Amino acid sequence: MDGLLSLVIPVYNEVASLDPLLGELDVAVAELGVPSEVVFVDDGSTDGSFAEMERLAADRDDVRIVKLRRNFGKSAALAYGFAAVRGAVVVTLDGDRQDDPREIGKLVAVLDDGYDLVSGWKQGRQDPASKTLPSRFFNWTVRRTTGIQLHDFNCGFKAYRREVVDAVVVYGELHRYIPVVAAQQGFRVGEVRVAHRRRTAGQSKFGWQRFARGYLDLLTVLFLGRYHSRPQHLFGGLGSLLFLAGFLVAGYLMVEKLAFGHALSDRPLLLLAVLFMIVGVQLVSLGLLSELIVNSRARSGPDPAWIARVVEPGEARDDIARAIETVEASAEAEPVAVAPPDRAPA
Ligand code: UDP
Ligand code: MG
Repeated sequence: MDGLLSLVIPVYNEVASLDPLLGELDVAVAELGVPSEVVFVDDGSTDGSFAEMERLAADRDDVRIVKLRRNFGKSAALAYGFAAVRGAVVVTLDGDRQDDPREIGKLVAVLDDGYDLVSGWKQGRQDPASKTLPSRFFNWTVRRTTGIQLHDFNCGFKAYRREVVDAVVVYGELHRYIPVVAAQQGFRVGEVRVAHRRRTAGQSKFGWQRFARGYLDLLTVLFLGRYHSRPQHLFGGLGSLLFLAGFLVAGYLMVEKLAFGHALSDRPLLLLAVLFMIVGVQLVSLGLLSELIVNSRARSGPDPAWIARVVEPGEARDDIARAIETVEASAEAEPVAVAPPDRAPA
């Protein structure tokens, strides 16, 4: 990789882990031999984590701290961290030392293979079964519904190209779905196995409850991914179908009444017809309301985050020239690279 590597670390009451974590990060990054910066986000810690960060940052110029006013949750912490990075590549890892900094190189290497986001897949997970079992079911459901074939959506250890962190919007508890959101926006998402360690200090901030809420967030992500710019296609579609069904049933009842003189007072079907038509109209109105929101958002112009690249006049020529150079260079390099040492040309 080229350029600066930014390490973003969300921290909520991890005072005892910060010093050893920074030490491990220094060793890992020195091995990679790339310039780096650390962005700590103090998500409203009350255990002195912030004072500890300041102490650690005091005699070095590669640590930035973003202190939030209170605990806003991991998604918000990541979002503030992303807004503060300066690097071309961003790696996020937890502040509790469960993610091993020695794996950073592995994640970044996959980015170099042409991926935009690489998510960790925790191996030999050091958490209790009350967490791992719901987690497996959760991952399976997210895979099935989103079509994104990751094994471990809930891994905080990830590497991103800068464009990705600039483009994805993380809030609420959507941090679990960053790979889904990124894929929806057209980024290439990969996965790599990473070591996972036991928590040695502090307490976990999440229990099984996270998955209960996670399903509501999944609904949000699926909806936004598909209908973000055209909500009426969902609401209007459903609403129209319901209205039509109600209208047909009502028509049938009217024929019964007018042609055959059957009384409608004891027909539950009448209630159903009315219900369908009312709900149908409501859904279409909801769709129109959503379109109003989409429309006012679109007024501020197209989203630059959706542009992969603009090729200016003249650049295409350079691109092609560079592509030819690379092909020629690799053709020249090939015999040397594949020849076994004993048959190398003299
Ligand atoms: N975290 C945070 N804000 C929160 C909850 C957690 O910044 O509201 C941080 C926490 O300090 C840790 C990371 O997010 O660095 C992952 O949290 P935790 O280790 O509790 O999750 P688990 O490993 O149990 O899934
Ligand atoms: Mg943890």
